[in-house]
Formats: sequence, C-alpha cells, structure tokens
Amino acid sequence: MKDFLQKVNSYIKEAFGASKYLFDGITVTFDHLKRRPVTVQYPYEKLIPSERYRGRIHYEFDKCIACEVCVRVCPINLPVVDWVMNKETKKKELRNYSIDFGACIFCGNCVEYCPTNCLSMTEEYELATFDRHNLNYDNVALGRLPTNVTSDPTVQSLKQLTYLPKGVMDPHEVPASDPRVGKLPEEVLDWMVSSNSKEELPLGNSK
Ligand code: SF4
Ligand code: SF4
Repeated sequence: MKDFLQKVNSYIKEAFGASKYLFDGITVTFDHLKRRPVTVQYPYEKLIPSERYRGRIHYEFDKCIACEVCVRVCPINLPVVDWVMNKETKKKELRNYSIDFGACIFCGNCVEYCPTNCLSMTEEYELATFDRHNLNYDNVALGRLPTNVTSDPTVQSLKQLTYLPKGVMDPHEVPASDPRVGKLPEEVLDWMVSSNSKEELPLGNSK
C-alpha cells in the first residue's frame, strides 16, 4: 500500500511538472502573438544591416602599397596583388588587385591587418550572380561604393508611408475593410484628392 501511494504521489508530481512546462511554452507562444512580424518581404522590403555587418569589401587602389599583408593573413591566401618592381625608383608598382567573393568567407582578417586601411567591409550583401566568375572583383569593382540605403528605391522611407491612417506605422495594421488596402501610395493620394471631402476623409484618418 505504501509503495502504491508513493507511486501515485510521484505520478502527480510529474503530471504537475509537465503541465507547468506546457503552460510556460504556451505563455511564450501567446507572448509572441502580440509582437510584430520580424520577417520582411524581400526583395520588396529590406532590412538595414547592422553597423558592423561584414559585407562586400571596399578597396582603395590609391592607398594600397602592395605589401601583401592581406594575402598572408587571409586563411585561404585569396587577395591577388599584381605588382611589378620599378627598377629606377626601386619601388613596387601596383597593377591590379582582386578578391574572388566566390571563395571569400568574409572573415575580415585582411581588413583588420591592412597597414594603410585601404580595405573596409561594407553593408552590401546582394552579390548573387548567374556566373560565378563575375564574383571575382578587380580593383575597379572593389572600388565601387556600396549602394546607399537612402537612395535604394526598394527601401521604403517613413515619408512614403504618410498615406497610412493617423497613428499607423505598419501597413499590416490597416483593417481589411479600409478602402486604402491594396492601393499604391499614389493611388491613395489620387483617391483622396478625387474624393475632395476633408470632412468625410480627413487626411491621415480614414474613419
Ligand atoms: S594589406 Fe592593404 S596595403 Fe597591403 S597589399 Fe593588402 S590591401 Fe594593399
Ligand atoms: S575577408 Fe577573409 S577570406 Fe575574404 S579576402 Fe579577407 S581575409 Fe580572405
């Protein structure tokens, strides 16, 4: 009888423990239901990479002294520094510099150790191409500045969201019954102008 009671006791304890874990899990689920989605509709929406994001490398030809430190610190000796020795000046003359982003692991070692800081990591991550040979960037391609996020037409600025009802920052928060839903900002503007009734549709409030 005593054994039986102990077994019942331990069973009840385990059942309570399991329900507690279940409740904790459900609490987390419900907590996330109240949050905004963290995904974006790429490529129509884009997130701005963090400040220390290690994207495509930028290179400044004029600052490079062809020391090849970047080659030695690279785990796969990737950068190609093409130089010739000028016998008159007894100095190296840089001809070309290239990095193959098809093989680069974006570790940032070359950027870290370059003595003249002519290498830097940009926030550019859109390097996809149909031909992998196009990923081999020469000094001209490496010298191109990354696209500024503020001039990227696919990134929506807050200014473009002014067509949303007052107090709404996220298009997903607009009720499906709202006549603005599914319209482009220009179309909403045209519709507001054509309605020409500020009493019926005050700017910034569709209700
Ligand atoms: S470490 Fe810097 S300066 Fe030296 S070769 Fe590489 S890029 Fe040029
Ligand atoms: S980021 Fe790393 S892998 Fe890429 S070239 Fe520089 S050192 Fe090499």
